[in-house]
Amino acid sequence: QLSSRLVVVSNRLPVVLEGKPGQWSIRPGSGGLVTALSPILRNRGGLWIGWVGTSDTIDIPGIKTVLGPASEASGYRLLPVFLSEEEVRLFYQGFSNEIIWPLFHDLQTRCRFEPDYWRAYGEVNRKFARVVLRHAREEDFLWIHDYHLIPLASMLEDSPKQLRCAFFLHIPFPPADIFLKLPWRKELVGALLRYRFLAFQTERDLRHFLQSLKALFPDSRAHREGDLFRIDADGRTLRAGSFPISIDYRDFDTLAQSRDVRRRTREIREKHGHRKLLLGVDRLDYTKGILERLQAFRRFLELHPEQRGKVTLVQLVVPSRQDVEAYRSLKEEIEKLVSRINGAYTEMGWVPVVYLYQALDRPGLVALYQAAEVALVTSLKDGMNLVAKEFCACHPGRDGVLVLSEFAGAAVQMGREALLVNPYDLEGMAEAIHRAVEMSEDERRRRMGRLRARIRQQDVFWWVDSFLRASSDQVLENFPEA
Ligand code: UDP
Repeated sequence: QLSSRLVVVSNRLPVVLEGKPGQWSIRPGSGGLVTALSPILRNRGGLWIGWVGTSDTIDIPGIKTVLGPASEASGYRLLPVFLSEEEVRLFYQGFSNEIIWPLFHDLQTRCRFEPDYWRAYGEVNRKFARVVLRHAREEDFLWIHDYHLIPLASMLEDSPKQLRCAFFLHIPFPPADIFLKLPWRKELVGALLRYRFLAFQTERDLRHFLQSLKALFPDSRAHREGDLFRIDADGRTLRAGSFPISIDYRDFDTLAQSRDVRRRTREIREKHGHRKLLLGVDRLDYTKGILERLQAFRRFLELHPEQRGKVTLVQLVVPSRQDVEAYRSLKEEIEKLVSRINGAYTEMGWVPVVYLYQALDRPGLVALYQAAEVALVTSLKDGMNLVAKEFCACHPGRDGVLVLSEFAGAAVQMGREALLVNPYDLEGMAEAIHRAVEMSEDERRRRMGRLRARIRQQDVFWWVDSFLRASSDQVLENFPEA
């Protein structure tokens, strides 16, 4: 059964399209998901369907022309979905990023429940469904990714072609009290029931989903079956489970030990006068708790004057969603706070916060992870948080401390060895920072050794494998040729 063809559908294709009409070029995407899925797609002759990431649709034939060679190069077919500017505004920036994203991260007051967003969400999912129907075959295994595409399975149902779909939600699923505020709550949960298999990052997300399911479909039943749940609801039977996503551990570990990255690591340390480096790495996003972290660092400097001049916080912010107002104003707030802290504490030869607003290349990022002694991951809520795992993978010397938000999915696997914090607790965070910088080398190595061993074993290949193993039976059951 595991050999049926795999069709992956996600909002974005795993490539980056650059240029303009008449002059497109393409480079491969770099995430762990692409790395883990590529060999499987190649071996099974798979497809990946997704948006090309530009609303520039003047030159569709041109874009299709560059995707051909890119498909050749990756060994499986890349099939584009084209979105107009208005669709990008209403479906992507609107429903996806101004409703589901904040709501699913428990930040209901940031939601804009615009009915136009909801309509566009449905229409764009129908558009994806048309591309899927054109290319997928009944014996295929369809793996749909993430919150942009929740209604996709329901949109495939009207077709005479019977397609079988599994779904993975990369972001958290909120508690029922929060989810039920969504005007289209029943439609969304009903749409999720159209999958044969549902997967969440953690057991907590799965339980939250079951709470909302019970509230909206009171006749529904869910009970444990080994590691999974069997759900009977709205005339359907499906299975659901939790599968914490991970990273390509070996890739980071190997790169961290390469000569070039070791040299760059030394250079970073020298540039900072061999002070202890604390590190934050985040996409610009209000869910990451960047402001809360900066405030905690300020509190730490206030409470521990002896640490001034000895510890530097490097905060890397990767530009993201710049077309959404909330992200633009967050950037301003971060920059204001950084200057305030630096204004208050800078001394001759030492600046407390080094702020970088840019994307680094992979070796640059790995060197930065390695140069830092403490990583601060303080998400207010996070599906998983890969930065936490990457930081550990980049410490082959086992000398590093992870301060980790208890509200990040990663806390389930890493909570015992990391220093767990509640990002809303300023004093507690300042205290954890102090504990991290003062931790003995013995204890640092012991904790980091265990973290590394676990991520090495539970890497992204393990994740894909467990997901496909668990879901294949459910998705392909009763299929005559499977
Ligand atoms: N990252 C990147 N460029 C950078 C810094 C980070 O591509 O300059 C990557 C990082 O390697 C990680 C991802 O961004 O894989 C962030 O993933 P995470 O799960 O932490 O958060 P998300 O952005 O998915 O919410």
